[in-house]
Amino acid sequence: MKLWTSSKIKGLMKQKIPKLPQLLNRKIYKTGQTRGADDDVIYQNRVARSSTVLIPFQFWGPSFKYPPGESSFENGFIVLIPPSKFFENKNIEKELAAKGLSLGGNCLVCFETREQWDKYDPNKLNWKPAKQRHAPLGGNYIARVPATTALNGGGKIIRGFTSTKNKGAGIRLYEYASSKTIVGCRHQLEAIYWLCFDSEKVAVENGMLAKDVQLRKSEILKICKKEGLLDFTKLSDARILNRERNAICPFCLEELSGAGFFSRMAQAEGREVPDLTVTEINLFHIKELRYGEYNHRPYNIAWGHHHCNVVTRDSGIEETLEWMRCILERNIKCGYKLNKFP
Ligand SMILES: [Zn+2]
Repeated sequence: MKLWTSSKIKGLMKQKIPKLPQLLNRKIYKTGQTRGADDDVIYQNRVARSSTVLIPFQFWGPSFKYPPGESSFENGFIVLIPPSKFFENKNIEKELAAKGLSLGGNCLVCFETREQWDKYDPNKLNWKPAKQRHAPLGGNYIARVPATTALNGGGKIIRGFTSTKNKGAGIRLYEYASSKTIVGCRHQLEAIYWLCFDSEKVAVENGMLAKDVQLRKSEILKICKKEGLLDFTKLSDARILNRERNAICPFCLEELSGAGFFSRMAQAEGREVPDLTVTEINLFHIKELRYGEYNHRPYNIAWGHHHCNVVTRDSGIEETLEWMRCILERNIKCGYKLNKFP
């Protein structure tokens, strides 16, 4: 896959490509960011997928794999060691060195339970919590211990990367994608929007001029072709487009309407949240994001229904379909009438 340099593409886009409606533009832009994280976890909240990567100790070793074709992370990494692994091993410093790690340089001890905190209290060692994402990290540990009501003084323990500007140590390993991959994904996702059966009409309804729609669409499709993206066979094999080359939901296979990119989802009565920004169509990873894989990449990203995404998110499309088949078969076998099925 040959990618254009992002500056070249940016230059081209600025020159002559009309803008997308803001809501759609924002939705596509956000696909390059990680999901939300609050102060109680070690992760950064909605930052670029190319940010510093946090690697659980058990995944780091000689067989550790970077994304295909890459030999580093753009903004480095920090390996997180469980306290018992660090404190119960007298040779730990040597073992870390053998694995290319140094405490406070590119790895930290990570406290996540009160038991760990009480047993190996880092204050007694005069340790400092880390505050930098690049070496030197400015400390040896990080802590995110939840509060407990069972104890006096059982408040939560949050140490390291706590300032407003510097919240969270980094991103989940499996959320990582290089800037180049992020840009490629955004282009392909925009192309998939344009391949919704009613995308042009919907774009005009949302403020684009008809002539701008034509220009933008053809330019994006061209850019994708140049980047080796829009391979229709691959896209239909991945459940992203159907045979008619229209965008579909990867789970239920229904053709997607461009309107789903702009409409806010109807919410269950009594459960309205004032600023809920969930729309009917969301970013969808065909193979789910998980440790050991880098799945934010072209041909693994699509658009799909919010509901279908929620149902498949944890176990993946095929496993969910199999689960549903079993449920349907059992219901039929037990004599329950499925009125809507023939
Ligand atoms: Zn669906």
